[in-house]
Formats: sequence, structure tokens, C-alpha cells
Amino acid sequence: MNLILLGAPGAGKGTQAAILAKELNIPTISTGNILRAAVASGSELGKQAKACMESGALVSDEIIIGIIRDRLAEPDCANGYILDGVPRTIPQAEALEENGIKFDHVVSMEIADKTILERMSGRRVCPKCGASYHITAVPPKKEGVCDECGSELITRKDDAPETVKSRLAVYHKETEPLKEFYRSRGVLVQVEDQGSVEATSAAILKVLKE
Ligand code: AMP
Repeated sequence: MNLILLGAPGAGKGTQAAILAKELNIPTISTGNILRAAVASGSELGKQAKACMESGALVSDEIIIGIIRDRLAEPDCANGYILDGVPRTIPQAEALEENGIKFDHVVSMEIADKTILERMSGRRVCPKCGASYHITAVPPKKEGVCDECGSELITRKDDAPETVKSRLAVYHKETEPLKEFYRSRGVLVQVEDQGSVEATSAAILKVLKE
């Protein structure tokens, strides 16, 4: 099964992708996590992406298309995958189509900007494995420590309130038109945020089984 999780920054795509990946036994591919790892390692890719990411702007389509093409060619993607945070623009979606990649479902996670702004201040992420937490909604077992790999959790620089506002503006302008793109291909499903991680994943799994 090939899936896309679409939604504003902070909608909970990473959290839901991790749950769905376990449930469906397919990998999650997050361009945000791949880019953050590149920035942390100081690679050429990381150097190119760093400033865009910190300001809340999008990294160029060319870079993203290259990353995703390489990643989808890896063997663990053979039985399907969940894309988290990609495609984010119409040219990225077109590039996937041009490579013959089709999606069974594109799940648009619907949530008000106001709720996102309230939530983002509590988000913590693992700089090593990319797992994401929330200090009250999805706390790690031990405060400040990743359940998956034991690394110290951090606050993302781009989760500062002013940056979140500009990331939301970028989402509405560049990414939201993808809903129409995938609706016209008959694969869009919209799932309202249910207020808790468990209720939202149950709602997503329900529509995937319909
Ligand atoms: P995310 O973790 O998905 O919120 O991504 C963090 C940041 O990485 C974004 O604000 C962008 O700067 C960059 N990024 C991640 N995925 C993409 C993408 N598909 N297209 C462009 N930029 C991206």
C-alpha cells in the first residue's frame, strides 16, 4: 500500500505515520527527518537545506525530488510506504507521477491553525531517530529521553511560534492545493483531528479499510 499523509506542520503526521507503519508493516519516509539528519551530519545536502529549514521555507523541489527518488528505490519500499511531509508542492506531486508512482490513499489530516499553534510549543523530537513526542499528549516514558533510541530530545528550532506561523502560511499556499490534485485522481480522504492520538489513528485506519 502506498500512502501519503498530507497536513499542516504540527497536524501530527509524524506521530500517525509511526503508528500506521507498525500497523501496516511498511516504512515511513519523512523528508523532514532525512533533511534534519543531513543538517546534523554537516553533509553537502545539509548545508544546502539548513537556512531554508530554519526559516520555515521549503527546500527546493529539485533537492526533494532527488531525495525521494533515491529513497523509494531502496528494497524496504518494495511492499509500500507512507510518505510524511512529501509531496509538499504540485511540482513534487507531478514528479512522483512522472516516475510512475501511484498512491492508494492520500490522507489529509484536517486541523485548525489555532489548535496547531497551541500544540507546537509542546513538541519534542529525537535528533537521532526522528521520533516525535509532545510533553503532555505523547510524553516519552522518561522525561526528555527518546523511547526508541535513548537520545536526548530537543525542541525543533522551526517550532518557534513566529516560524510556525510562516510554515502554516507556506502550507496553505504551496501544499494545500495538493488536496485538489489528489481529489481529482480519486484518492483523497479527509480525516478530522479527533483530539487524541489514539482516536485520530482509529479514524485514519477506518477510512483506509473502507
Ligand atoms: P517537516 O519535518 O516535514 O515539517 O519538515 C521540516 C522542514 O524541512 C520544512 O519546513 C522544509 O524546510 C523542509 N522540508 C521537508 N520536506 C519537504 C518537502 N517535501 N519539500 C520542501 N521542503 C521540505
